Amino acid sequence: MVWGIWVKKAMRYHSFGRFIKERFGTPVHKVNVDAGFTCPNRDGTLGVSGCIYCNNDSFRPSSCKPALSIKEQVRNGIAYLRKRYDSEKFIVYFQPYTNTYGTVEELERLYREALDEQGVVGLAIGTRPDCIDKEKIDLLESLAQKHFILVEYGLQSIYDKSLKYINRGHDYQTFLNALAETKDKGIEIGMHIIVGFPTETKEAMLSMADEVSTLPIRFLKIHQLQVIKDTPLANLFAEEPFPVFDYGEYLEFVVDFIERLPPHIVLQRLFATAPDAILIAPRWDRSRHEILRDIAQRFLRRDTYQGNKFTLALQSPRQ
Ligand code: SF4
Repeated sequence: MVWGIWVKKAMRYHSFGRFIKERFGTPVHKVNVDAGFTCPNRDGTLGVSGCIYCNNDSFRPSSCKPALSIKEQVRNGIAYLRKRYDSEKFIVYFQPYTNTYGTVEELERLYREALDEQGVVGLAIGTRPDCIDKEKIDLLESLAQKHFILVEYGLQSIYDKSLKYINRGHDYQTFLNALAETKDKGIEIGMHIIVGFPTETKEAMLSMADEVSTLPIRFLKIHQLQVIKDTPLANLFAEEPFPVFDYGEYLEFVVDFIERLPPHIVLQRLFATAPDAILIAPRWDRSRHEILRDIAQRFLRRDTYQGNKFTLALQSPRQ
């Protein structure tokens, strides 16, 4: 279906659901697995305290237990989704920590274990751009010949000042190098950014949309910075509170951001919803469903859509 028709149907941005429908013709559900990886920013290779906002409990579903094999986790997840949604197709999501942080042999065994399960059409693999190399890309390229393979690079910001502030352990150039290595190999590429770091003005955050638009990526996750308990960021916030997005402000921001993206970029996530028990700020007290509804209403009220303010002539904000 062409873009203009989607806009008329009130689907004002290119959602992951729409992408799945076009690509597979049927609903495809994600099965989260925890392969027991760690990350170089935690195991001492780069550091031990991690990125300052990181608390993996905020995004590790309770159903993921690294004590179980990948095959068992996938089977459990599929059984649940089949019962609940009558689903037939699945993408296995290697989510917590850094899911290319192992030897090529180990990665191949884990990825194939997931792909061998009936109904699994592909993998989504969350990782850091400094944990990929030619051999790992070769493996992903070979898997991508028969399967949907999406590698999601956590970047968080295009600004080195922010990457330093959050103790990311890599710079923006490292991400660009990983993209150059990954593109044109049949591997789908996603990136993850966070907006709201106190090192950036709102205009600088918005300008990230222009930079993202110049990159060879297909999928984007964007969300507001959340201050989570038991993280270095929580200590900084307690010592010297900084502004965080309030709800209405974020709705406006995310619409502004999406307007500046080209229509082909698929939006996989637009906000974060850490559990109340560990969330310090911002506290929006809205369900996922309410936030999605309110973003959709904001697009309608402003009569705008993804790509409305996209222009190829835009310059990277980093130039
Ligand atoms: S956010 Fe990701 S890269 Fe950073 S410390 Fe946590 S697991 Fe590691």
